[in-house]
Amino acid sequence: MADLAYAFSKRHLLGIEGLNRLDIEDLLNLGDRYVELNRRRVKRADILAGRTLLNLFFDNSTRTQSSFEIAGRRLGADVVTMQVATSSVKKGETLVDTAITLNAMKPDLLVIRHASSGAVKLLSRKVDCGVINAGDGSHEHPTQALLDALTIRRRLGDIGGLRVAICGDVLHSRVARSNVALLNILGAEVRLIAPRTLTPPGAAGWGASLFTDMRKGLEGCDVVMMLRLQQERMDGAYLPSAREFFHFYGLDDEKLACAKPGALIMHPGPMNRGVEIESGVADHKDRSLITEQVEMGVAIRMAVLERLAAAAPVTEPAP
Ligand code: ASP
Repeated sequence: MADLAYAFSKRHLLGIEGLNRLDIEDLLNLGDRYVELNRRRVKRADILAGRTLLNLFFDNSTRTQSSFEIAGRRLGADVVTMQVATSSVKKGETLVDTAITLNAMKPDLLVIRHASSGAVKLLSRKVDCGVINAGDGSHEHPTQALLDALTIRRRLGDIGGLRVAICGDVLHSRVARSNVALLNILGAEVRLIAPRTLTPPGAAGWGASLFTDMRKGLEGCDVVMMLRLQQERMDGAYLPSAREFFHFYGLDDEKLACAKPGALIMHPGPMNRGVEIESGVADHKDRSLITEQVEMGVAIRMAVLERLAAAAPVTEPAP
């Protein structure tokens, strides 16, 4: 039941850490409404008319960047995406100077992706507008966890009591961190399944049970969330080979059969077919939620933009 005294009041979305259950449920409920809007022929709401959304991607992205752009445009905002590859950052400007420069252009919302954990938080302290973390290093990717929760909730209802497995390259995954945090808040049982070399040292304290044996870890799971093997973040020998990784940790029909009958399959994308997931499993007609996750991504980002724009301080000139 909705709490009538509740109002979303966060200025930034830097991670799931810092949100409470009411914040998450509020964003999911609003996300649900935007799913309906996005399925109409005319997908417009003018809630952000006259506001400026700046997308600042210091690190690669296809779906998250376009998802935020579409979300901002559907809400009527002026959306600008900074081409970081051609910006002053490449000419030696520091991160903080970039933030101060952009702040002077008076954006209302800044969406930032950066390869270093903590960089988005640092930038949020230097600007006056609301900041959304679109992924910082291996730290957090809050809108991914929110869109995953929306996808699960629309299929299975209440997330409390579900058993969810998150499998693969947990070590390098901001998606795993944000999802464990969010699923814990909503009362799911979370299992992390990874080889020891790809299990983060502190994972035992995250509030999830740890498994190295995928078949055991998948037992009784309602949802199986696969992670991409993030080879670009690997600077050492974490794995003997991608082939061996698939043998032990790749999701195929045989391993999937260890989960609950009908268990749902998720992946944040981009997928490495044949490395962490078998093609046929990824494309499973009823059980794979992978394209639904992309659809939910736009809706949840619209919800986040609406809430943060409402919380952003508006500086009107004195009369
Ligand atoms: N797209 C997700 C991220 O940005 C997952 C991935 O890249 O593997 O973290």
